[in-house]
Amino acid sequence: MINSLLIANRGEIACRIIRTAREMGIRTVAVYSDADAMALHVREADEAVHIGPSPARESYLVGEKIIAAAKATGAEAIHPGYGFLSENAEFAQAVADAGLVWVGPKPSSITAMGLKDAAKKLMAAAGVPVTPGYMGENQDAAFLAEQAAEIGYPVLIKAVAGGGGKGMRKVDDAADFADMLASCQREAAASFGNDHVLIEKYILTPRHIEVQVFGDTHGNVVHLFERDCSLQRRHQKVIEEAPAPGMDEATRADLCAAAVRAAKAVDYVGAGTIEFIADASEGLRADRIWFMEMNTRLQVEHPVTEEITGVDLVEWQLRVASGEPIPLRQEELAINGWAMEARLYAEDPAKGFLPSIGTLELFQLPEHMGRVDTGVYEGAEVSPFYDPMIAKVIAWGEDREEARELLSEMLEESAIWPVKTNSAFLINALDHPDFVAGTVDTGLIGRDGDAMTEEPVPTAQALTNAAMAMVPRSLQSGFRLNAPDVRSAPFLLDGKRVEVELHGPGADEPAPAMLVAESGSVWQLTPWRAEGSAGGAASDGAILSPMPGKVIAVDVAAGDKVTKGQKLLTLEAMKMEHSLTAPFDGVVAELNATAGAQVQVEALLVKIEKEEA
Ligand code: ADP
Ligand code: ADP
Ligand code: MG
Repeated sequence: MINSLLIANRGEIACRIIRTAREMGIRTVAVYSDADAMALHVREADEAVHIGPSPARESYLVGEKIIAAAKATGAEAIHPGYGFLSENAEFAQAVADAGLVWVGPKPSSITAMGLKDAAKKLMAAAGVPVTPGYMGENQDAAFLAEQAAEIGYPVLIKAVAGGGGKGMRKVDDAADFADMLASCQREAAASFGNDHVLIEKYILTPRHIEVQVFGDTHGNVVHLFERDCSLQRRHQKVIEEAPAPGMDEATRADLCAAAVRAAKAVDYVGAGTIEFIADASEGLRADRIWFMEMNTRLQVEHPVTEEITGVDLVEWQLRVASGEPIPLRQEELAINGWAMEARLYAEDPAKGFLPSIGTLELFQLPEHMGRVDTGVYEGAEVSPFYDPMIAKVIAWGEDREEARELLSEMLEESAIWPVKTNSAFLINALDHPDFVAGTVDTGLIGRDGDAMTEEPVPTAQALTNAAMAMVPRSLQSGFRLNAPDVRSAPFLLDGKRVEVELHGPGADEPAPAMLVAESGSVWQLTPWRAEGSAGGAASDGAILSPMPGKVIAVDVAAGDKVTKGQKLLTLEAMKMEHSLTAPFDGVVAELNATAGAQVQVEALLVKIEKEEA
């Protein structure tokens, strides 16, 4: 068994690998870029080596630096995680050439599966059903258009070197083919340095079903059943589960046998995933499931397989890389219960899934309720340099519904701020009737996503609770119990003005601001003040009443010259006095307040105009 391991990755997967290595008594070495100097994987490893600037292409993607770090620290083996260099056959070869153990398949297996067209040809030859289409060398546009017509629309144009859901174009109509082909080729050349494409039949009612396979250096290959990753956004997985809903034993046996044949065809060693696309218009049927591609590495969603089989896939990887046989035989593997994983991203679904960066001032995930694989901690930075996935939340249940409910509850219990996350979106997706029924196809989010991406809002009760913590207890007499005079006051909710009902006693120590955490979302509530909202209200010189109240003093008259900060009038509201002051030097152009008058919230009390020079 290897004694020391360098992890050539970052984030949650680096932490995940370190956890198992430590349990096995293996010394761990992390590598990190400038941006990751304080990252969790650096803290958790026994040792860490700085490998360069923040951009991945100057650090995590530079094979020589990683091999040098392994040499310098005496690490015997390198685990690439997923993404980055994990499917780079040249790097795998360089690791071996440097006398280090590569925790992954042989470079030849990576190469064989590296390009989608070559992989499909190889699989077809091995008797694995492949998605119908054209996967030849001829890249002439007119020829490809003929092929598309022969396959029959809709078709999918795919970059042979593509990955991560990029380099794909669905074409519904022959008239659009030429344009879509050109745009796909442009993206493929820019993203993958290879503009070759293949054309596939676009499978209708598509479900993404994949099989976890595992090989060793003694010629054994087993499968660890299937996962369903059909809940996708733009061809990228959002929620994954195992097993697949609606999979019967006979279909499972056929599919998993095909996956094992596929792995054997490339002499596969280590953890790999065979991805299939299923036409689920009539449920899952063995004759309607086709090979799509193989990922020659550990997959993001491997935890759901671990949860239903009890196998630690990273432990298996390390054992197999050390030359041991696979610890269990096929007949010793069984499915126990159901597992579901949600990918938690630092992004804002309401703003088109824009990545959200910054300090995680609040970062709480309910680790006591299930499994949480994360690469960050409270106080850590989410930087703009890497993938915005900050955690994976994984739930296990006796059956699918139990797992689904637990995952939803776990997400509801999460509290992350001020970085935005997709947790409310994930909860909405888990609650979608098609997801509940287990009939999700990959187009669901595209069709019904708008309802899932609506900006979450806190309930009135949550706002009241937070508001009362900001109102001094000395105002308690204002809130007579059982009195009908429920009061309300304006506050700023994430900078937007809201009216909040106040009832019950306030706090001994009023807070200047409160975080409102509810259903997996967090907002900040602050008291609304005329001065505080100067950016909006006062910039144009309009002084509005911040809350309903009584004017108790007016210190200026119409036409008066005032200087910035000068007191204009005093308002009494909620038994507190509020001074309203001039936002800038100017003249009182309008005065709508007299002492003793009751005013409504947002009533225009004074208007200050800048003096003409
Ligand atoms: P695929 O999309 O090819 O089926 P996965 O679902 O396993 O594969 O996702 C792999 C993706 O994870 C990569 O394409 C990349 O965008 C992302 N990724 C790579 N490295 C990291 C990392 N360290 N942390 C989070 N995400 C990563
Ligand atoms: P990547 O390397 O980017 O992961 P894949 O070939 O695995 O590329 O395809 C990604 C996703 O695109 C699949 O999970 C599926 O949702 C969709 N897809 C791929 N091929 C087809 C197809 N022939 N018909 C319908 N959907 C497809
Ligand atoms: Mg894929």
